[in-house]
Amino acid sequence: MNMIGLCQYSNNGSIEMKMNFDINSNDNSLFVTSQCNNRCLMCAQPPLNRDDIDSFWNKNIKLIDNAPNGLTNIGITGGEPTLLQEKLIHLVEYIKLRYPESLIHILTNGRAFSDIRYTMKFKEISNLLFGIPLHSDFSIDHDTITQVKGSYTETMKGLYNLASIGADIELRIVINKMNYQRLPQLSEFIWKNLPFVAYISFMGLEDTGYSIKNHNKVWIDPIDYQKELEKAVVNLAEWKLDVSIFNIPICLLKPSLYKFAKKSISDWKVCYIDACSKCSKKHECCGLFSTSKIQSPSIKPI
Ligand code: SF4
Ligand code: SF4
Repeated sequence: MNMIGLCQYSNNGSIEMKMNFDINSNDNSLFVTSQCNNRCLMCAQPPLNRDDIDSFWNKNIKLIDNAPNGLTNIGITGGEPTLLQEKLIHLVEYIKLRYPESLIHILTNGRAFSDIRYTMKFKEISNLLFGIPLHSDFSIDHDTITQVKGSYTETMKGLYNLASIGADIELRIVINKMNYQRLPQLSEFIWKNLPFVAYISFMGLEDTGYSIKNHNKVWIDPIDYQKELEKAVVNLAEWKLDVSIFNIPICLLKPSLYKFAKKSISDWKVCYIDACSKCSKKHECCGLFSTSKIQSPSIKPI
């Protein structure tokens, strides 16, 4: 693998927090804590052990108060948002007062929802989407990636508890060197055991944060897992599940997968290289992470 600096590498390891919401942005998210109870080997935003919930809370309340009218989508991210416990529900309710119709997309590892009493507190809240990563159908692989023994069991229990309250769930699979070989098995597992999820998102790796530190364990060029990805995606689509591919440039995908690719990378960290200006797919392509230290050398115009 060549390390080629196609886009300017802009990550300085600091916590990214928006100062304002922008009606034209594709990413209006509230960063609620840098703490997390997982330590995923490819985490783009490495968790920090610091008591920051109250300081982010105050900033986020100001962000909501000053946000423009008409936002249709608001994210809640971290770190792990459920570490706010009851405060997460209060935050969601606060957003709902300002934006009753907006979709609130909570990115969580799902472990806190293994507690049905906590899960039940979200039951009456409408327009919520829980984005939850499942790294493998094989518990040991999942726990190896999260570096927390038992996290697979808690996440799976969380998924079932959320399903029991009728929550909308997006299952997120960040493809890496440790889980790509079992993508076809994972697709069968989802179909048999998690058919209630609303969306399944296969995601390319952002080579920043812990991915740099664990490069040899997690990095794989997307071009090298196309066979497994194609099998998994085509399986799920044939079984009528709503499947998409995020964060992988179209030129790295097999043509059979083009129609599943979404323009997904947040506008504040996407970049295109010179060659992209000659590409017929640029208007549909997610582009590249400007924050990634490594890019695939196989990027070329279509
Ligand atoms: S669950 Fe998310 S925030 Fe926590 S370590 Fe894993 S990738 Fe990072
Ligand atoms: S060459 Fe085309 S498909 Fe490849 S990254 Fe650029 S715009 Fe996307």
